[in-house]
Amino acid sequence: MSRPAVFLDRDGTLNAEVDFLTRPEELVLLPGAAAAVRRLNEAARVVVVITNQSGVARGKLDEAQLGRIHARLDELLAAAGARVDAYYYCPHHPTVGPDAYRKDCDCRKPLPGMLVRAAREHDLDLGASWTVGDSLRDVEAGLAAGTRAVLVATGKPDRLARESAACFAAADLGAAVDAILARG
Ligand SMILES: [Mg+2]
Ligand SMILES: [Zn+2]
Repeated sequence: MSRPAVFLDRDGTLNAEVDFLTRPEELVLLPGAAAAVRRLNEAARVVVVITNQSGVARGKLDEAQLGRIHARLDELLAAAGARVDAYYYCPHHPTVGPDAYRKDCDCRKPLPGMLVRAAREHDLDLGASWTVGDSLRDVEAGLAAGTRAVLVATGKPDRLARESAACFAAADLGAAVDAILARG
C-alpha cells in the first residue's frame, strides 16, 4: 500500500538559506527544523528532501560534495533523533554548464519530476502527501505532483497570491508540520 510523504525543500526550509551552499560546514539547521522532521518520522510520514542544485551545473560544487552536505544534514538531524528517508536533487540548469548538466530537465522545480520519481521509487501516495518550501516554485512543484503544499517564511520572501485548503502559508517548518498533522 502506498504511503503518505512530506516533501521538503532544503535551503530556506530545513537549513538557513545561503547563496549556493558548497561546504558541509556552511549548513546550519533552522530553529525547530530537526524537531519538526522528528515529528513527521513519528507520524509515519516518509520524509523526502527535494532540492534544486543548479550549483552543480554552474560548477560551484560537484555531486560528491553535495553528498557530503547531505551526510552532514543527516548527522545534524540524527543528533535530534530525526531522519530524512530519501534525497532527490536536480543538478541541472537549462542554459548553463557542461553538456551533462545543461538541459531542460523534468526535475528542476517548479516541475514535479523529483516528486513523481520519488513516488514511483518509494511507493508514495502523492494525493495524501504534502510539499513544504520557502519558494513559490516548491509550492508549484508540489501542486503539479498532486500534493498539498505549505509555503514557509524562513527563506525567500515569496508570498502566495491566495491561500486555500490545499495551499497555504506557515511561519516555519514547525508550524507547517503542525498544520499538516492536524489536517491529515
Ligand atoms: Mg528553498
Ligand atoms: Zn533536473
